[in-house]
Amino acid sequence: MLSRATAIEAIAGRHFEVVVIGGGITGAGVALDAASRGYSVALLERGDYAEGTSSRSSKMVHGGLRYLQNLDLGLVREALLERQLMVQLAPHLVYPTPFLVPAFPDERRQRGLGIGLNMYDVMATTRVGRSRREMRASKEADEDYYWSPDRHRTIDRDEVLQLVPALAPRDPKNAYLFYDCQTDDVRLTLTVLGEAERFGAVMLNGAEVTEVLEREGRAGGVAFVEAGSGERLELTADNVINATGVFADRIRPEETIEEEDVPRISPSRGTHVLVDREKLSTGSAACIVPAGEGRAIFALPWYGRTLIGTTDNDFEGDIDHPRPAGEDVAYLLDAVNEFFDVSLGTGDLVGAYAGVRPLIATGDPKKSVDISRKAELYETSSGMLTITGGKLTTWRRMAKQTVDRLVEREGREAPCHTAEIPLGMEARPDDLEAPDGVGEEALEQLAFRYGHAARKVLALAREEPKLATPIVPGRPDLLAEVVIAARHEQARTVADVLLRRTRLGLLAAPQLRDPGPARAVAAALGGELGWSRREVKRAAEAWPAAAAEAGIDPAGSLV
Ligand SMILES: Cc1cc2nc3c(=O)[nH]c(=O)nc-3n(C[C@H](O)[C@H](O)[C@H](O)COP(=O)(O)OP(=O)(O)OC[C@H]3O[C@@H](n4cnc5c(N)ncnc54)[C@H](O)[C@@H]3O)c2cc1C
Repeated sequence: MLSRATAIEAIAGRHFEVVVIGGGITGAGVALDAASRGYSVALLERGDYAEGTSSRSSKMVHGGLRYLQNLDLGLVREALLERQLMVQLAPHLVYPTPFLVPAFPDERRQRGLGIGLNMYDVMATTRVGRSRREMRASKEADEDYYWSPDRHRTIDRDEVLQLVPALAPRDPKNAYLFYDCQTDDVRLTLTVLGEAERFGAVMLNGAEVTEVLEREGRAGGVAFVEAGSGERLELTADNVINATGVFADRIRPEETIEEEDVPRISPSRGTHVLVDREKLSTGSAACIVPAGEGRAIFALPWYGRTLIGTTDNDFEGDIDHPRPAGEDVAYLLDAVNEFFDVSLGTGDLVGAYAGVRPLIATGDPKKSVDISRKAELYETSSGMLTITGGKLTTWRRMAKQTVDRLVEREGREAPCHTAEIPLGMEARPDDLEAPDGVGEEALEQLAFRYGHAARKVLALAREEPKLATPIVPGRPDLLAEVVIAARHEQARTVADVLLRRTRLGLLAAPQLRDPGPARAVAAALGGELGWSRREVKRAAEAWPAAAAEAGIDPAGSLV
């Protein structure tokens, strides 16, 4: 990514064919799609990339078994095909995980679930509806084209316990095993942005759009405030795309709220908590956990921790700074405590976070769990296009839908290419050479997070051995990653690094009460960004407030 200074120069006062407002996964996708079809593109993000909902998901790239219950078949099929594609395009970053639905001795087999899983298997493959000849032809062209996980199956007690040791106290009889995929939502967003830049898109964070400018009665550019200088800057554009997720109706509210036929955004908060794997070992598989009233939550292995979530409640609070509510944390802990026969409390949590879903309300007063996860694209009277709703998994389709509309209204010939654009470049941990002091775990994590670009991190660690040390003792994230974040990923604050470039804020929150890691991050950022000693000190001191605002330290700052 260009440095912020260079990006400001490339954007301010210039003209683009497309300006995208919002640097979450949807905006990143639109930037990549439009740039790869030949549009000149600028993307502006108010805070940090993925700072909104795109850093606060359950980190699953999935069809959503739950939506089968609602017979939302189109949505599930669409998401499953995207899941298949994401594993192909970003094999280092999107990986299959076995999911278990265990059964216990006193329970009857859930036959309905078996039928649902059969449907899930069938819908998960591109083989459906294709003739044998077609299949042979594309198989020859590319063996991997048909990647899809194995079909679901029933596994016996021993295999259940091997996969999820935490189930031992419950003495499971057997379990259904099926597959879904996991990722790191922020790294996925940054990777898509990186690809967009390769196609010429220019992006800037710390750039809040405050006004959509009009040219001849049409949306024809934006004014934005650049966070570093506080200066108001402008750019002109032929097309304005509003990809601000749950904030979409704040952009030109006279259109996005007041015009008829525009769908309403109905925010829903989802809370997650994380525990040490020693306290609840999901091993290498995820587990579906009943949570009362027919609801279910997940316990997922993620970055060596167990991630538990999520709640799904209508939310009327501060959508700019959603935090895990005490009652939601209690609800999640009660469910896992009962299911695994453990007694976890808030003191056992290593992190927590909450996000707000941009659900689309249909007007009827259903609870948010029932409101559609479908994406909505709408064009308002100024010609501005707003794309919101949807899922992390379906970002590519949402982007395609948006840019297809641009292409159609301009009468261009510009087909979408994103189904063929690799997202980053794969690297296996074995391909990477570790400098002294960097262990296996760090190599694995670097290969997952950066793919081929992990070599850049390792080269830095080799050049300057101090950078080969972990940011938090005992965790594999390296100080060299802070330098990369500042140099190549427009990181500007300690929170950018601890919450998003790395995920330490969610994985090691109690250790971050110690000021040491924040100071080390601030010093490394300052070294890259030319900060004075006072600025470094100020940056480190800002961390506790940022951590409290996000509510990541469950024992310290629950609302
Ligand atoms: C709890 C929870 C769990 C979820 N789990 C999953 C899951 O496992 N799998 C899945 O597929 N989906 C999941 N989702 C859904 C998924 O996370 C979202 O659909 C997706 O991240 C939305 O991305 P977005 O880019 O549209 O919005 P956002 O990520 O919110 O991006 C919008 C961006 O616009 C910026 N912005 C706002 N106003 C301005 C302005 N004026 N100027 C410039 N920028 C601005 C914001 O700062 C923000 O970064 C989950 C959602 C939640 C809440």
